[in-house]
Order: sequence, then structure tokens, then C-alpha cells
Amino acid sequence: MDSIKKTDNFVFQTYARQGKAFVKGEGTSLWDEDGKKYIDFLAGIAVCSLGHCHPKITQAINRQASTLIHVSNLFYTMPQADLASKLCEKSFADRVFFANSGAEANEAAIKLARRYFQKKGDKNRFKIITMEQSFHGRTMATLSATGQDKIKEGFYPLLEGFSYVPFNDIDALRNEIDESVCAIMLEPVQGEGGIIPADPDYLKAVRELCNDKGILLIFDEIQCGMGRCGTFFAHELYKVTPDIMTLAKALGNGLPIGAMLATEDAAIGFDFGSHATTFGGTPLATAAALEVVNIISRETFLEQVRQKGQYFKDKLVKLKEKHSRVVGIRGKGLLLGLEIGVGKDKNATFFVGELMEKGFIINGIQDKILRFAPPLIIEEKEIDRLISALDSLL
Ligand SMILES: *Cc1c(COP(=O)(O)O)cnc(C)c1O
Repeated sequence: MDSIKKTDNFVFQTYARQGKAFVKGEGTSLWDEDGKKYIDFLAGIAVCSLGHCHPKITQAINRQASTLIHVSNLFYTMPQADLASKLCEKSFADRVFFANSGAEANEAAIKLARRYFQKKGDKNRFKIITMEQSFHGRTMATLSATGQDKIKEGFYPLLEGFSYVPFNDIDALRNEIDESVCAIMLEPVQGEGGIIPADPDYLKAVRELCNDKGILLIFDEIQCGMGRCGTFFAHELYKVTPDIMTLAKALGNGLPIGAMLATEDAAIGFDFGSHATTFGGTPLATAAALEVVNIISRETFLEQVRQKGQYFKDKLVKLKEKHSRVVGIRGKGLLLGLEIGVGKDKNATFFVGELMEKGFIINGIQDKILRFAPPLIIEEKEIDRLISALDSLL
């Protein structure tokens, strides 16, 4: 049986997979079972941001895998300590909790926000306001936080204490606030919702509102963080800092790791025993992530991401001017979306399939948005090749 048949027979059929099996990756390239090469403009959904099998990261993983893989959080390890201090040095945060995925990082953020007010004696504050179209994960709490009905279907009753407002609408947010609200949670650039960046004035106003009302602000940077938008964290583009932030996807460049970062003040919500996970912050995962942080921190790295992002976006805008099927270009840095006007048949799925045939990997959101999240090391000539393929398809 080949890998596709075997998978379809034995793995839960929860994913609408594109019918390809991959066997190898290097930099921006992937190879399928037939030896065909693809340029990857998705990077495992914004995960392999430094490219596939980056030699420095593979080396760090190999070194750590042959030294120490796991000891549990009953003990200390240097890679975890180093990564936590590096992430704090790079951000507004003073403390880090390590998890294994995005959903778990968000789960930790939700728990911290609730317990913070319990600790302060403000016992009635438990509600978290999130955004329509947001995506925060698939565990019961993060699903409850997510502002999309279709992925909640069949799982009711969900966790209490969440409400949803339209994104980029400060009045709607202000109207939703009452004495029971403990936090506002949002993605500075919505990913699964369709690559929708926050408006600069909106994000500033949200921060002010949180300050006024004494509410915690949580940024979910699981998709838009770690250099993806051209700054180390997406919120740096807005000059607005949260009290709590979550990271995952690109943090380990493919090794599973999530993190919840908080200010010293917000961190008082957790005491000894308040929260825990067996695998969070293993020496193996943190050694990989430490190398990721080091590479993104190199001088000119982020400058190049911004340049390539602008180059890519300009080319997409030109496509929009040329083809009436393209109705919108959005995004920041190298997290970009192209919205296709609704047609009879040729929606996002069509373009994703055709581009795959031509050797490019992208994905579609809501069957109308093409998402581009290439490795941050993508080259201009690779962008040109995708643009020309897209041009002929349009
Ligand atoms: C992917 C994603 C998550 C969930 O991460 P998992 O690792 O799949 O649990 C949460 N928030 C955002 C913004 C994401 O893009």
C-alpha cells in the first residue's frame, strides 16, 4: 500500500489533504514521492519559516538529541533557560510558559487571564472577548475562543465566558465591555480568518481601552509572529504591546513547541502547581527554537523579510490591476493573501490545485483567499516564478 492509501485507511479522515506525499525538503524546496520538485510557498502553514531542514537547526537538533531529549519540568535544563531569557530579551515579556502547540499556548493564556483576576480578588472577571473570524485552536477552550461557527459545529456546549465582536471595530468592542471582562484576545494579523491585518489606529485604541478598564490584552502571534510579518513580533509593526502573547508555529521551525509570554504583572496569575505540561519546553524542542531565535535575530535578516514581502506584495498588486478576478491583496511581510472574486467554478481550490501541478505549494482559505506564507528565506526569483504561473492561470 502506498502512503496515501495507508493514510486514508488508517488515519482519522479529519483533513482534506491534497493528493501528494512528500519525502524530502531542503530550503524552499520540497520533493514528492515521484521525485518532482516544488517551491514551497506555505512552509507547513507558516511553520518552517527558515526553510526545510535548515542546516543550523538540524545540527542543533542532532546535537541535543544525542545529549539529552527530556527530563520533565521537575528539573532545570539550559536550552529551556536560554530560550526563555532570549524570548524575554526580544519582547515586552518577563516570563515564559512552554507548551507543545499553539492551542496549548492559548489555553495557558486563557487560564492565566482568568486566574490573574481571581488572585487579585476580582472574582467576577472571567469573560474574554475575541474577534469574529479569529482562530485560536481546536481544544475545547481555544475552540470556544475562536470566532468561527463552522469549526464549532457538533461540539456544543462549549466553554462559557467568551464573546465575539467584529475585528477592527473599536465601537463594537467598547460596547461589549462590562465588569465581567478579564481579557481581550486577538491576532494582530488574522491568519485563518483570511490574512486580515489589524488597522494601526484600532490596535492602539484597543490597548488604551484595556488600560482604561484594567483588562488584560492577549495577542495570539502563533501565525504572525517570529519574523513572519517582517518584525520579530507582528505587534512591533503597530508599536502596541500586549500583556500576554502566544507563539508556536514557526518557533521550532517544525519541531513542536508553543510558548505563552507575559509581563511580570500578568504572570502573578500562576503559582506553583497552577499549570503544567509533561512535554513543554523539552531540551530538544527548546534547543531547536533557540537556534531559530538566533537566526531571526541576525542583523539584516528581518530587513530582508520586509524587502521581500514588499517585493512580493507589489507584484501581487500588479496582478490585481491586470486581472479583474483578483479583488484584494492583503497582509504584512511574508504573510500575504490574494482574494479571488467569487466565480462559478474556479475558486481558491482550483488555483491551489493548478499551482501544485506547476510545482508551487500554496493553500486556500475559505475557498476564496490564496495564502502565501513562504519560508522567510524565499528569493525574489522564486517569487517571480510563482507570480508568472499565477498570471497565466488568471
Ligand atoms: C495555528 C494557529 C493556532 C493553533 O495552533 P496549533 O499548533 O494548531 O494548536 C492558534 N492560533 C493561530 C493564530 C494559529 O494560526
